[in-house]
Amino acid sequence: MTNNLETWVYIENHFNHVDPSSLQLVTKAKEISDGPVVAVITETPNQNLESEVKPYGADKIVIIKDEALNEANDDTIANALVELAKKDLPNAFLFSATVTGRSIAPRVQSELKTGLTADCLDLRFEDDLLIASKPSYGDNVMCEITCPKTRPQMASVRPNTFKAVEATPTSEVVTANLAVKVDDRITIDTETPLVADDTNINSATRIIALGRGAQSEQVIAHAKAVAARIGATIAVSRPLTDLPEFSHEQQIGQSGNTVAPELIINLGISGAVQYTVGMQNADTIVSVNTDENAPIFESSDYKYVGDAEEFLQGLLKQL
Ligand SMILES: Cc1cc2nc3c(=O)[nH]c(=O)nc-3n(C[C@H](O)[C@H](O)[C@H](O)COP(=O)(O)OP(=O)(O)OC[C@H]3O[C@@H](n4cnc5c(N)ncnc54)[C@H](O)[C@@H]3O)c2cc1C
Repeated sequence: MTNNLETWVYIENHFNHVDPSSLQLVTKAKEISDGPVVAVITETPNQNLESEVKPYGADKIVIIKDEALNEANDDTIANALVELAKKDLPNAFLFSATVTGRSIAPRVQSELKTGLTADCLDLRFEDDLLIASKPSYGDNVMCEITCPKTRPQMASVRPNTFKAVEATPTSEVVTANLAVKVDDRITIDTETPLVADDTNINSATRIIALGRGAQSEQVIAHAKAVAARIGATIAVSRPLTDLPEFSHEQQIGQSGNTVAPELIINLGISGAVQYTVGMQNADTIVSVNTDENAPIFESSDYKYVGDAEEFLQGLLKQL
């Protein structure tokens, strides 16, 4: 156990930039934590990720700076985080449930012999106890999971579950004094950034989402035409992942992705809670459905009661 009530957030270094999901976690940690929120950065001496983190108002930024972190593998980064945490165990340590976060967090957890709740959808504290919520048992129930006996209490959270909000900028920035232990069992020869492409719904600012009521070839073609005109990405509800042209990566919802675009247009989607939970953080939600009582309208800012194809044709004329 520890007397340190800090909540640490690991700031993911993604090709010399902060992964946006790390900033979302800083905002959430500040909202729920009574103790100080510390953003932990791993970077090389010539990197400056702290400039991207400061505007989000963590109480402190701790930087592990070392040349060994140049193209470091996940074991090396985990070693550095473990060394830092062993010096002064924080109360909680949060990671994004990105590919990188899902790899580093369990390595840290096993070295610190503590508990990790992976892929959470919500977090809160009761006093100093972290309550992590996540879908379980084949996504059929939401569980609240705690780690009452060991510290830090660790959790990874799905990207886009929370919103990053700027706050009073961080003034306390310190560099940790520790030597990074390189783990060279695996070396990284080449790395290719996962840049936004037209099927990456996680980073999309505009999304057109298609459901079972919008699965005809014509509707899909017109939705793609509108998407191309307004710079939107196509996403789908669960049933459409059965069509060969869509993949699970494009699915929004409880067992898919959580998205937070500026605009989402839902076409022919009924609004089951397993779907809406994945898009309720969008700034503006427009929904189109032939059924005026469709539940999707309850979570929408604008509604169009009518046929998806009719709506798209009208939109294409306007564009
Ligand atoms: C454990 C579990 C996890 C799940 N996870 C997910 C998930 O991650 N994502 C997800 O999406 N689902 C998920 N589901 C499934 C979910 O419960 C719903 O079945 C699914 O979201 C329904 O998809 P839909 O709205 O496209 O289809 P439907 O519910 O069939 O709705 C189709 C809608 O289209 C409308 N419509 C019909 N014709 C037209 C037209 N011409 N123009 C306009 N509107 C029209 C209809 O009125 C209807 O409202 C999960 C279910 C379970 C049990």
